[in-house]
Amino acid sequence: MPLFRFFSNDLAIDLGTANTLIWMPGKGVILDEPSVVAFDRNTKHIIAIGHDAQTMIGKTHKDIKVIRPLRDGVIADFEIAEGMLRAFIHKVTKNWQPPRRVVIGVPSGISEVEKRAVRDSAEHAGAREVHLIAEPMAAAIGIGMEVHQSVGNMIVDIGGGTSEIAVISLAGIVADLSLRIAGNVLNNNIIQFFRRTHNLLIGERTAEIIKHKTGSAAPLEEELEIEVKGRDLVTGIPKMIVVSSVDIRNSLTEPITDIVNGILRLLEQTPPELASDILERGIFLSGGGALLKELDKRISQATGMAVYIADDPLQAVVRGTGKVIENLSYYSPVLIKNTRY
Ligand code: ADP
Ligand code: MG
Repeated sequence: MPLFRFFSNDLAIDLGTANTLIWMPGKGVILDEPSVVAFDRNTKHIIAIGHDAQTMIGKTHKDIKVIRPLRDGVIADFEIAEGMLRAFIHKVTKNWQPPRRVVIGVPSGISEVEKRAVRDSAEHAGAREVHLIAEPMAAAIGIGMEVHQSVGNMIVDIGGGTSEIAVISLAGIVADLSLRIAGNVLNNNIIQFFRRTHNLLIGERTAEIIKHKTGSAAPLEEELEIEVKGRDLVTGIPKMIVVSSVDIRNSLTEPITDIVNGILRLLEQTPPELASDILERGIFLSGGGALLKELDKRISQATGMAVYIADDPLQAVVRGTGKVIENLSYYSPVLIKNTRY
């Protein structure tokens, strides 16, 4: 009954540390917002979520707190994280029935307690059936890998709080590694670089822009320059300086090396048959971090393998969860087993 399927209120969700995306069968992505919440410090009442909450960062009074509840890939504040997920679900189902079935992508390193919190919050939003899937598995499906086959695939999903590296075969994760080194750490390194080398204080938004425009993991064909405005830590007044992409790259060396070493470590742990599949097929990158300039080249040089960036890497996980909700029985082997009794 395709009509029923297209108008059903099933939802697929990528609950990312930086961004939350929601997919509706037959419609595609219907929500794409930062995983940010503004709430009343005293009552814990949620005031705003997503884009609305993000614009409040740094502009609130003392009773309002703005946080990213999933910041490091772990749920920093359960109550607020739950409230955020519920509010996002309500936002897309406003005048609709509550969602019937929900598939949610979660970091592979998430604890049992956190899994339970995610399940509970979707249930509290009215979902009758909640399924969880590990993000790298969802990304692999979103990229179009045939995850059921007995063929090894390597996926590296670099988000805001975590980098997830996984080898997938026969609908399961054969080996994986979840690092707390990802986009946020790169931003922090850029902030530290300006503080230490230029006595310049810059904010997170500025660091993010610098990373997008000039950040890189290997030398660029043509190195870039960027004007950066911040506050001089000595005089206290605003100042502008010009820096080169070479300096920005040097400030990112450590975390990038950590991610590359993680990939090498996982390759070492991969059974030889699967490793030879990966050698043949290459390594696939997803998540916003995959957009860092020359990261693919850097990983390729370190591993000697071909490296491919997913189409629209920021949406790979939600596309994967979307495929799963649209064909739940086919994909049921890839879901995280519900250990709750
Ligand atoms: P998550 O799954 O954790 O929510 P995303 O996959 O949405 O994360 O990716 C968000 C991360 O990607 C952020 O840290 C952001 O800075 C980074 N990012 C987005 N675009 C780029 C870009 N062009 N260059 C480098 N990093 C980027
Ligand atoms: Mg993600």
